[in-house]
Amino acid sequence: MTEPIETIQLPPAGRRIYCNRTLNMRAMRAIGYDMDYTLVHYHVEPWEQRAYRHLQRKLVDFGLPAGELEFDAALVTRGLIIDTELGNLVKANRFGYVTRASHGTAPLEFERQRAVYGRTLVDLAEPRWAFLNTLFSLSEACMYAQLVDRLDAGATPGALGYADLHRLVRRGIDEAHLEGELKAEITAAPGTFVERDPDVALTLLDQREAGKRLLLITNSDWAYTDRMMAHALAPFLSAGTGWRDLFELVIVSARKPEFFTQRMPAFELATADGLLRPCPTGIRKPGVYIGGDAAQVEEYLGTAGEEILYVGDHIFVDVHVSKAVLRWRTALVLRELEDEIVALEGFRPQQTELAHMMEEKVRLEFAYSQARLEVQRRQNGYGPQPEGAPARPRERMAELRARLVALDERIAPIARASGEILNRRWGLLMRAGNDKSHLARQVERYADIYTSRVSNFLYETPFTYLRAPRGSLPHDDAPALE
Ligand code: IMP
Ligand code: MG
Repeated sequence: MTEPIETIQLPPAGRRIYCNRTLNMRAMRAIGYDMDYTLVHYHVEPWEQRAYRHLQRKLVDFGLPAGELEFDAALVTRGLIIDTELGNLVKANRFGYVTRASHGTAPLEFERQRAVYGRTLVDLAEPRWAFLNTLFSLSEACMYAQLVDRLDAGATPGALGYADLHRLVRRGIDEAHLEGELKAEITAAPGTFVERDPDVALTLLDQREAGKRLLLITNSDWAYTDRMMAHALAPFLSAGTGWRDLFELVIVSARKPEFFTQRMPAFELATADGLLRPCPTGIRKPGVYIGGDAAQVEEYLGTAGEEILYVGDHIFVDVHVSKAVLRWRTALVLRELEDEIVALEGFRPQQTELAHMMEEKVRLEFAYSQARLEVQRRQNGYGPQPEGAPARPRERMAELRARLVALDERIAPIARASGEILNRRWGLLMRAGNDKSHLARQVERYADIYTSRVSNFLYETPFTYLRAPRGSLPHDDAPALE
């Protein structure tokens, strides 16, 4: 008997792979993976809490009043933008218009926000703006907002400005990540920080057995990478298989984004205890390498960009640059998507009600404008006096206005709730007001596909053909005749 089509189950919405540009997985000859927050997912709060503590110590050493502060994960989300000139955090829509803002940790009232940003478009090419690209950005953004409060209270030394403050916080977090202490704490207790996904190992095995050449390309160093990968994958591999066996090439300390844009020497890790061997003729054989660059990887693979898929969580480094410079195919891992989709599903009845009310509003406003024009024409004695025009347009205007006011009162609480889904302060990651967020716009431009986690490729298999939906335009749903 033929299987009825409805019985073929697709993955749950939060675990699907979403597609901006059609991608045939069968045509991908190599798949490159980023490690941190891609193959290895962390418990965000404890990881960022720990990073925050290290940052805090550095800032105290720099002479800043950071000592009493506490990390607050609810204060910030990925995709927000720091305005380093004004000491603000902002959320922008796809055109760069600011839709929400806070100064330090204090939300800006709508009128104030409009006064400050009414004429300003966020352009990430300007040094004024710092985009929160990954979940690693949360500690620094939280610290920056809290220190802006301290600066305003006159607690910071000298004539420190908002941009100086940002430079110091950046320097502090860079040092915290690059020096060994923070990483040593993570590797000493991986169970506290790593959120294992039992399906990642099988996902990679499926891909390898389907003939994909697998690569790991991470900015983390070898010792940290080895420890994290072993912790995340080893329990799910059969005895005798190590995580290393999954990958043809492992590139650590890759220095992305320069990895994608510049030529850099590669060193082969020759022995397990860290002996390095220079590779003056580039990458020639499978192995673990320190440094190198994307051009060498392409030469080694003998494969051009459109047959390499790179999967990462950093919207600029992993996805924007690899796509813009090399035209690699790109996948963005956005873990927050799972919660976002559940929350949207829960809000669907209100969203439908809101859409109905907005439709009503459009019609009432249309009728109101017609009546108003009618009044104007009569008053000024010009233009046609159409049949069927209301006999008493002023009364009609008043009646319509009253209905609009009543409708707005019903719309307001639901519209407000829609902007507070998931995070009261900032709302959904991918939405800004009624529009797409700046993050969503970047995802759309640079990520061919996006998904919440690597193991979602397990459902889709290495043979899937991912189709982009038909792009929508504002006039798509307009009825030709009414
Ligand atoms: P990847 O995502 O696997 O390429 O690795 C990211 C690496 O960059 C990790 O080792 C992080 O600790 C490190 N990292 C994340 N954010 C920063 C930063 O702001 N400055 C310096 N290193 C960072
Ligand atoms: Mg990463």
